[in-house]
Amino acid sequence: MEFIKVNIDTATPADPEASILIIYTGGTVGMVFDNEQQHLVPFNFSQILEKVPELNQFNYLLTVVSLEPAIDSSNVSPADWLLLARLIEEQYYDYDGFVVLHGTDTMAYSASALSYLLENLQKPVIFTGAQVPIGLIRTDARENLITALQIAATQVNGKSMVPEVCVYFHNLLLRGNRAKKVESSHFDAFKSENYPPLAEAGIDIDFRPDGILPHPDQTFRAHHQLDEHVAILKLFPGITPQVVSSILQAPGLKGVVLETYGSGNAPTAPWFLEQLEEALARDIYILNVSQCDEGRVDQGRYETSKYLLNMGVIGGDDITTEAAITKLMFVLGLRLPVQQTKEMLASNLRGEITI
Ligand code: ASP
Repeated sequence: MEFIKVNIDTATPADPEASILIIYTGGTVGMVFDNEQQHLVPFNFSQILEKVPELNQFNYLLTVVSLEPAIDSSNVSPADWLLLARLIEEQYYDYDGFVVLHGTDTMAYSASALSYLLENLQKPVIFTGAQVPIGLIRTDARENLITALQIAATQVNGKSMVPEVCVYFHNLLLRGNRAKKVESSHFDAFKSENYPPLAEAGIDIDFRPDGILPHPDQTFRAHHQLDEHVAILKLFPGITPQVVSSILQAPGLKGVVLETYGSGNAPTAPWFLEQLEEALARDIYILNVSQCDEGRVDQGRYETSKYLLNMGVIGGDDITTEAAITKLMFVLGLRLPVQQTKEMLASNLRGEITI
């Protein structure tokens, strides 16, 4: 897997307003209908100007790189996230912003992972995609791409308007690690229940500066490690000891996102408590995340969560599952001592939680 440069023939403006790197990774956004094969196939990105001729009207310097081979985002892996982080790090000072074209299925995971990997980001990294392929008449790819580029190019007093990893989709700009795919048929595929949009695109793009992360004082740096020894344990009434132990006893496991009910509540059956205690005694980190999209984990509000707090389960506040599992991968990848790891998991790293 590697990124290759795609040559597109935009008239290079003499005095461009902004220079943007478009990173094409795959997904529906880059599909066209192949009449011979009678199904959707990835399209040759060098023909992007035929599909979106409006790109010629921008006074931007556009460069495109493509993941080779392009992938359906269901196949995305932490190795791809590290590759993306490395690419952005290498190109960081050559561009004003980055637009990542990505399948919608796992976009929220990828945007979350990149938000952790890219520390002290001063430039926008905007993920976008489409529900209808770029090669079809009713595609939403055109609008999503054009507005994502505009957002990536927007500056105020010489600084990027949105120095964050974001998801832009169907008129909403969302913080990447707050976004969730909520829709597989309609155009409004992404929502962020616990954090307001950073911008809304109508006739104008209406930014909400108060909600956007401030420009960091420290120098940008990318991280190059993620630890994949993690799991998600989603509770449901009737879950058996065998299912719980198959996860908590998984060889090499280091961290678990425990998807609990409501404000972070879990069963109090002795077998369940014993299994959690045993895992915690092995220094497995357990991050409590609610199955509710809205609201937050508040360990201790009910008896059914107070015991989790007392045991040392870490409260995930209002984090999404996508942001939690990637946070575990990132923090565990830092290989810090136990106490520091716990503190980092509980703290707000990139705006993913409101404490
Ligand atoms: N399966 C596709 C993907 O995530 C769906 C999409 O792009 O919307 O790559």
